[in-house]
Order: sequence, then C-alpha cells, then structure tokens
Amino acid sequence: MHASHIGEHLSGAEQLVSFAELQTQAVALLQRALGHERGCADTVHITIDPVAHSELVLGRLPALANRICDGVAPARQLAVRLLETAGVDCIAARTAIEALACGAAPGQRVMRGAMLIDASSGVRLEADQARGVRVSRLGIAAQLRSELEVIVSEAGLEAARVSEALVLAAKVQYCPDIVAELCWSDDPSYLSGYVAAQQTYTRLTPLKATGDPRGGRAFFVRPGADLGALTSYLEHSPFLVTDLGTVAEDIRIFSRA
Ligand code: AMP
Repeated sequence: MHASHIGEHLSGAEQLVSFAELQTQAVALLQRALGHERGCADTVHITIDPVAHSELVLGRLPALANRICDGVAPARQLAVRLLETAGVDCIAARTAIEALACGAAPGQRVMRGAMLIDASSGVRLEADQARGVRVSRLGIAAQLRSELEVIVSEAGLEAARVSEALVLAAKVQYCPDIVAELCWSDDPSYLSGYVAAQQTYTRLTPLKATGDPRGGRAFFVRPGADLGALTSYLEHSPFLVTDLGTVAEDIRIFSRA
C-alpha cells in the first residue's frame, strides 16, 4: 500500500499473505492509509502481486535489545557506537544520522525508502535520493504474526510498528553485503528507532525530539558490494519469517528492566 496526500508521501506498508488472508489484509492496509496521524490520504494504491512458494527465502527474527537513553544526543551517540561495533566507520555512521536528522531527500524531505551508505567511506550510493531503496516482498507466517503482535503489545510496545520493523530488519540482515541498519520513524510522535546489526535489533529511545517530522532508514553496505544484486534482493526477493528466534525471551528481559 502506498498512500499520499496532495502529492506528498504519507504512508506505505505491505504484507506477504496467503490467498485466504488477502481480503482482510487489503482492508487493514486501506484503514491504515486513511487513519494516518499526519493526515488522511487522498490517493491510495494497493498492489497485489503473486509469489510462488518455491521463490520464498525463509528466515528468523533478530534478537531484541532495548536501550532507553537520557536524551536524543546520548541515544544517537549509542547508535554510533553500535554501528562502529558492527564494522561501520564512525564518519559513515555520523553522516547517516546527520542526513536522517535533516531530511535525507532533496529539499530536506523525508525519503520514501532507505539510503545505501558505504560502510567505510560514508558515501551515499542509492541511485535516487528521494525514493532510495524500498524493501519489499516481505512478511511473517500468519500464525507467527499474531503471536509476535501479542508478545510485543504485552511488553507495552506498538505491536504493528515494532513487528513490521523486526521483519524488515530480518530481511535486511539476511543480506551478507549489508553490515548494519539504522532507522527512526518520520511519525512526529514516535521517538524510538533502532540499530540492527550482527543478528540483533537494538531499540533506542529517543532518537529524535517530540514533534519532529523527519526520519528514515540507512543501510550500511560493505565496500565493493554488487549494488544491483543487493537492491534486487531487497526489492524483489520474497522473504518470509518462519522463526521468531529469541524475541519472546528477550522482550521479557527488557520489559522487566
Ligand atoms: P517507518 O518505520 O515506517 O516510520 O519508516 C521510517 C522511514 O524508513 C521512512 O521515512 C522511509 O524513509 C523508510 N522506509 C519505510 N518503509 C521502508 C521500506 N519498505 N524500505 C526501505 N525504507 C523504508
């Protein structure tokens, strides 16, 4: 689903679902487009594509960690440290944070997809700096989706948002040429974000100030990676999470903390 308002991107989401779930999920995506906090969409596109079972790449969710910081600056510093531990150069990490904080698309707007950043040099590699790379064709097996949403909401987190981010991070982490991912939302009231690297998704709060409408994603790419193959995997290879990994146990630990 892609929703816009007076030509501006408003929200986008997708699900990899069985035929039996198509109608319910299409309605859920439409409701989401019409109920966005930044305004009601005037244009909504819902596209449905077939995916053969044989094409599916199966994967598991990363482990989960939660870090609440004293403010935006310490949270961003921690993000830099986590990225460095994963092998991202400090300059590359800071470049990404600066770009997300200012609006990474031309005119300091929010991108529709993610930046690709060379993990060593910090150079931006995506062909289109407004669209970026959009991770697509991803989902979680139906029974695990409900299980995950229960686990996440019982921990007091936003079920749909965190579950979807975990699935996206799982697909991104599965790509050997992506060293790490950094994300925070463009929703003005959602201040948490994450660094995903080394099979762990570390939720960081707050990565931005209340009311800030900027956010985005950065994928840190191994130098010399084949960008065509990497982009094709992210945008076209169907990826289905069939294993929740240790999320239930991890979330119990961090909800107690
Ligand atoms: P969200 O987590 O949905 O609030 O999205 C945060 C930012 O991530 C957006 O502003 C986009 O720049 C980017 N983004 C959203 N969806 C995708 C996607 N499917 N693939 C890559 N980047 C995305």
